[in-house]
Amino acid sequence: MPASLLPYRRFIQEVDALCARLETLHRTHLSCRKGCSACCTDISVLAVEAFSILRGVGSSLVDIPEDGEVPEDRLNSNACVFLDQEGACKIYPYRPLICRTHGLPLLYPILEYDEGGKEQVPEEPQWQLFYCDLNFQGVTDEDMEKVFTPETVLNMEEWNQRLVLINEGFRGSADGSSFFKAIYQGRFGESARKELFQTGRIPLSSLGWVIL
Ligand code: SF4
Repeated sequence: MPASLLPYRRFIQEVDALCARLETLHRTHLSCRKGCSACCTDISVLAVEAFSILRGVGSSLVDIPEDGEVPEDRLNSNACVFLDQEGACKIYPYRPLICRTHGLPLLYPILEYDEGGKEQVPEEPQWQLFYCDLNFQGVTDEDMEKVFTPETVLNMEEWNQRLVLINEGFRGSADGSSFFKAIYQGRFGESARKELFQTGRIPLSSLGWVIL
């Protein structure tokens, strides 16, 4: 593994350990299993996650066709490009942060915006809990406070902020610098170039056609 990915791999090990603990705690409420792909829609990831996937599956930039365009049939579905015919993940060992948390109760801050659409930082942030509808079906309103506590939910804001810092470190490395350059040059297609420029993220679909 390249040194540029070591902080990310250590981070993923921590995430996996926490998710395994939460899966054990919530095992009676989870219906997640291999072949269930309800959470596997087309998502975007940070560059360090995209690079880790490409390195993990053994792909390289030389595999990318010269025209750098994503084939139409890969763009016409909302399903993740890495799902196989049985609904399993083809890149499971290298899947990004969000995929490792699929099915678990996740806490996100409720974002607030001013009239110009600029994100505001509230004095006291409000939080919102998300989980897959297929899970926690027997949990009643009265049970909620017992099932979902600060110890049994995943605060995604904390993990996402750490991932952003790791991504910044990656960007400063030689690997990161040439990877960002390749995307900005359009070598992963126009949608990847545009989304990286606008949101700092890369659609998984733009990696799928490189690898598959
Ligand atoms: S990368 Fe794998 S786990 Fe993540 S959305 Fe795609 S198929 Fe699902």
